[in-house]
Amino acid sequence: MKIGIYGGTFNPPHLGHIAAARAVFELLGLDLLFLIPAGLPPHKSMPAGSPTPAQRLEMTRLAGEQLGLDGKVKTLDIELHREGRSFTSDTLAQLKARYPEDELWLLMGTDMFLTLQAWHEPGEILSLAGIAAFGRTEEDTEELFAAQRDYLYKTYPQARIFTLTVPGVVDVSSTELREALAGGEGAGLLAPAVYGYILREGLYNTNADLKHLPLSHLRPVALSYLKHRRIPHVLGTEQEAIRLAERYGADVEKARVAALLHDCTKRLGMEEQLMLCKQYGIRLDELERQALKLLHAKTGAAIARDVFGVDDEIYSAIWYHTTGHAGMTKLEKIIYLADYIEPSRNFPGVDKLRKVCYEDLDKGLLLGLEMTIEEMTAMGNPVHHATVEARDALKG
Ligand code: ATP
Repeated sequence: MKIGIYGGTFNPPHLGHIAAARAVFELLGLDLLFLIPAGLPPHKSMPAGSPTPAQRLEMTRLAGEQLGLDGKVKTLDIELHREGRSFTSDTLAQLKARYPEDELWLLMGTDMFLTLQAWHEPGEILSLAGIAAFGRTEEDTEELFAAQRDYLYKTYPQARIFTLTVPGVVDVSSTELREALAGGEGAGLLAPAVYGYILREGLYNTNADLKHLPLSHLRPVALSYLKHRRIPHVLGTEQEAIRLAERYGADVEKARVAALLHDCTKRLGMEEQLMLCKQYGIRLDELERQALKLLHAKTGAAIARDVFGVDDEIYSAIWYHTTGHAGMTKLEKIIYLADYIEPSRNFPGVDKLRKVCYEDLDKGLLLGLEMTIEEMTAMGNPVHHATVEARDALKG
């Protein structure tokens, strides 16, 4: 197996890192890529006001997800837990012990490659891993790399070096980005979920007021809560909610906010869900205590209100988006259905449901509720009483 190892301060990880990682992954044919945020970097001191190691770890994980390689990219915290200064040679030795049969490749940009001989134990590094070096700007030419490559080969005969050009190289550094972010700029140089996380955590003096976020900022913040594969669903729900709100004369802005936040706790496990229920005083019935799917609607509504200050209308649209209930408001119906029929949904009957939803909102809702009840019953799953009551109320 070929394993790539990409270390950095990742303060924050940006599109330059992502473009380089993607290029190496493809060109070297890696099977696995580890992103490793450095603990105490030997090369540079951390600027004051930097995020905590845990926050850098989470930003790096979110940036890694942007690569869309699923389980082939993993973010490791091995340097963050290490006592004292963090050296690449120690990290490589640790990984070599874990993967003795595999080929390790260390990824690095121009600045790191040109100073490799000055690192701690460069000979050890070059024995343990091949070097995949790439330019950080269009000006980082092959001649620049060639001289260093020749020098390293002469000095360290065991060296294996692969130099490459990153297609669509993104000329940015984390230092520049931190300054830009403090001035309200830089979003375009980050993966959306990383930018959202920065706003949410108030990093780099962004000072966003989470309770009054414009939609352009709320969207990346909402994405930062999601598993990467759920992003198309949430963006699709936003689009569907806009269309339904326009069709039925509802408040489009509220529909968008509810759609963006409706799954904000979906990725949490049972234990975390139950902790949130306790924290927000959410009372659960027997069925809800066992069904994760039912809990996320309630905890999501609680977070939407507590963190983002949504009003009661949006709160209840999120709260009821999974079960529905008797006597739903227009916004509740819109979010329930937008979640159900958004463009990335693909199940038997979805086209008919879509059609009915745009002919008559209540008929669409009734059909959606009936389909849910039918499906749950066929699978042998209990149906929540609120869903049955919603259907019965509509049937009159
Ligand atoms: P700083 O501004 O603090 O120097 P940085 O942008 O270089 O930060 P690091 O986390 O220190 O980010 O870099 C980690 C690795 O990514 C290094 O090997 C570096 O050369 C490489 N790298 C950084 N920026 C880019 C970029 N825009 N394109 C390609 N590689 C990059």
